[in-house]
Amino acid sequence: MPSPVPPSPAVSLYLAPWVVPISSPVINDGAVAIANGSILAVGSSATMRMQFADACIERCHGVLLPGLVNAHIHLELSAYPHIPPPALDESFCDWIRSLLRVRQDGEITPEAIAGAAQQMLQQQHDSGALLLLDIGNIPPSSLATNPSSARVTFLLELLGPTAKAEEQVLARIASLPDSVAATPHALYSTTPGIISALKQRADRLQHILSLHVAESADEIELLRRGQGCFRSFLEERGAWENTFPTPGIDSHGAVEYLERLGLLDAGLLCVHCVQVSEKEVQMLAVRGCKVCLCPGSNRFLGVGVAPLEQMLHHHLLPALGTDSIASNETLDLWREMQILREDHPGVSPVEIMAMATLGGAAALDREHDFGTLAPGRKAIFLNVDSQLLHGVQNEEQLLDALTGGGCPSTIRWVVEG
Ligand SMILES: [Zn+2]
Repeated sequence: MPSPVPPSPAVSLYLAPWVVPISSPVINDGAVAIANGSILAVGSSATMRMQFADACIERCHGVLLPGLVNAHIHLELSAYPHIPPPALDESFCDWIRSLLRVRQDGEITPEAIAGAAQQMLQQQHDSGALLLLDIGNIPPSSLATNPSSARVTFLLELLGPTAKAEEQVLARIASLPDSVAATPHALYSTTPGIISALKQRADRLQHILSLHVAESADEIELLRRGQGCFRSFLEERGAWENTFPTPGIDSHGAVEYLERLGLLDAGLLCVHCVQVSEKEVQMLAVRGCKVCLCPGSNRFLGVGVAPLEQMLHHHLLPALGTDSIASNETLDLWREMQILREDHPGVSPVEIMAMATLGGAAALDREHDFGTLAPGRKAIFLNVDSQLLHGVQNEEQLLDALTGGGCPSTIRWVVEG
């Protein structure tokens, strides 16, 4: 006897004045068809209503678009929103000193830290962030209850600038269960031995390795000449052993340093990349590395502006991250897009929107499920609306409003399955 034909899944059709798939052109009067938790098709409202005549119809105002991706955040620092940026006569290291002082004085209780992280995660969810890459020492599962739509990937951050610290950190790495993904902090705080061990481990466990790279000129000064504020900072903490640059590595920049350590590949997510040469941008592109820019944090700390035009020219589509509230005014990805528009007037709003969605999903190796509205992607995406969006006439005006207008007044999640 032939087996019964399973009933076709119920299709829901979401109609909206605008659909921004990212992977294909913007659709005016568009629709997204979903069933069984996945996107079935994206197209014009008229075509889709014929194709899915029996579908359950939902009419939306405004715009349908993929969820945003915050590819660099430290949720556990959400309780430290008042660390002042360095003054004119201060350096990046002074800001690190302030942060360490506040964290070490212990006035903020673990409960307050968890409460602030919970609130921040909820804010991220409410403002349209679907995927987050959270870096820190406290897993978000023990800090916060996850709102239903937010997908948080956590990387345990490890560092150690001396031989003794390296020995201890390598022992800790060896004892970590495979369920814990770990990553190095930065080149100025972590020996090449630790970074290499974590990269090998990340490759074995097939997770992304993310670290702060070329965030400030002070970092480059340390890598090039073993001088500058980072040297003083390490000296005052009894942690200066001249491990930078590594003997045998004639380093000109942070990316070149990583290249000579043999660490540049598609499994590496380089965060910040402000102080990089065009040669290094090309190197990142050739090796297929992932890049995450944090323009709000860079502006707050006064470390400069990443060469986004060069990155796009070399076919890199960076992700966007907010970094923590200790080094940013707010952790709002819509504001990060606005800052990119201000800092890079020559970059098109289309590319900036793609960075905040597809760029982030690709940086987290999740582009098969998220980052675009396309058949096969998960049926979870955004419906946003605002007064500003009502007046738009075409794709150009729409993307200008989405990337330059700040956080939309209405943000709603479409979730099925
Ligand atoms: Zn960071």
